[in-house]
Amino acid sequence: MIDTRETFPEIRDSVRKLCAGFPGEYWRALDRERKYPTEFVRALTEAGFLSVLIPEEYDGSGLGLGAATAVLEEIHRSGCNGGACHAQMYTMGTILKHGSKAQKEAYLPKVASGELRLQAFGVTEPGAGTDTTRISTFARKEGDKYVVNGQKIWISRAEHSDLMVLLCRTTPREAAARPSDGMSVLLVDLRQAVGNGLTIRPVRTMLNHATTELFFDNLEVPAENLVGEEGKGFRYILDGMNAERILIASECIGDGRFFIDRASAYAKDRNVFGRAIGANQGVQSPIARAYVQLSAAALMVDRAAALFDAGQPCGTEANMAKMLASEASWYAADMCLQTHGGFGFAEEYDIERKFRETRLYQVAPISTNLILSHVGTHVLGMPKSF
Ligand SMILES: Cc1cc2nc3c(=O)[nH]c(=O)nc-3n(C[C@H](O)[C@H](O)[C@H](O)COP(=O)(O)OP(=O)(O)OC[C@H]3O[C@@H](n4cnc5c(N)ncnc54)[C@H](O)[C@@H]3O)c2cc1C
Repeated sequence: MIDTRETFPEIRDSVRKLCAGFPGEYWRALDRERKYPTEFVRALTEAGFLSVLIPEEYDGSGLGLGAATAVLEEIHRSGCNGGACHAQMYTMGTILKHGSKAQKEAYLPKVASGELRLQAFGVTEPGAGTDTTRISTFARKEGDKYVVNGQKIWISRAEHSDLMVLLCRTTPREAAARPSDGMSVLLVDLRQAVGNGLTIRPVRTMLNHATTELFFDNLEVPAENLVGEEGKGFRYILDGMNAERILIASECIGDGRFFIDRASAYAKDRNVFGRAIGANQGVQSPIARAYVQLSAAALMVDRAAALFDAGQPCGTEANMAKMLASEASWYAADMCLQTHGGFGFAEEYDIERKFRETRLYQVAPISTNLILSHVGTHVLGMPKSF
């Protein structure tokens, strides 16, 4: 497919080469068993692709979000899935931006080398949903430690991570000055926590995403693992969400390109009624439409990443990029399945797998309605309904 925005061509080329070693059969086998792509994650780590956001002083390559979007887009365009490890890129941002010097020095170089995996973040709770101010997992300060009790849901990669960034209440909602006050971020060492107050239970979903639920029963976390100031955790988590949304958007762009590549190739090749199906406008136009929509979404992803890298506010652009890209990739997924007719449903074509995978991104990490609400209220000044 013609691609007019080949940013970071050398990075893209290297990622493509690496991904060629992880073809459809690799992902299909894992998908059937819901297994973790350990070899793929190791290869990405060793090639340095997961440390592009870590500054050079902490042994990363410090290339910025634009480079990170190129990495994830190419992973997804190649038919691979970055969901298993994308959070290793950005979860460390909470420590980088808000951690102490000692925390940065202790953790960031090891995250950069892959010696430590910091790719789990625990925010969502069953009783709170999108209304994060309603979380009830509570960390009670006792001397030089916090004692954590509560429950989280949809915490991905917790079984494949050494550390987790955890958002919990340290002041009850009713006692806080504002609902968003009184939450704090703790860095939990999962290697020590599991079996000592933390239970991780995998949740099987329609895609292979290594997601879990967590149960905290008097888990002790050293007080020195508090990130930033107590009570300000909600703001710290919000800070990290822009990077996450832009990176997820770039995965959707990669998925969309995968679907368009596959659909246009198949439409040229498949002959029915004595001609290529792609000669029929009923087949051709949806492929072209998918390309148009995806190209527009990709521009918004680039814009959001450029603002982020320039240190400018980018919350609205990050949200819009995520919404446009996830809708464009989903349109492309549906189009690709339709273009392939019955073969779209066959596992060996990888389309049904990618179809399931890309659907997630209209719900997580933030659902479309909440993005529209942000634009409606924060950008357009209309009244908030909740
Ligand atoms: C596979 C997977 C992996 C995930 N990984 C993580 C993770 O690693 N860490 C983590 O913390 N979370 C994770 N999540 C959670 C994810 O961020 C949430 O599922 C997502 O933000 C939606 O929240 P919810 O499921 O609680 O939906 P709810 O808040 O219950 O909302 C349900 C529906 O109602 C809509 N809705 C709710 N309120 C309104 C309103 N006021 N106006 C209009 N519509 C509304 C929403 O848009 C949504 O469509 C993951 C989720 C999944 C499925």
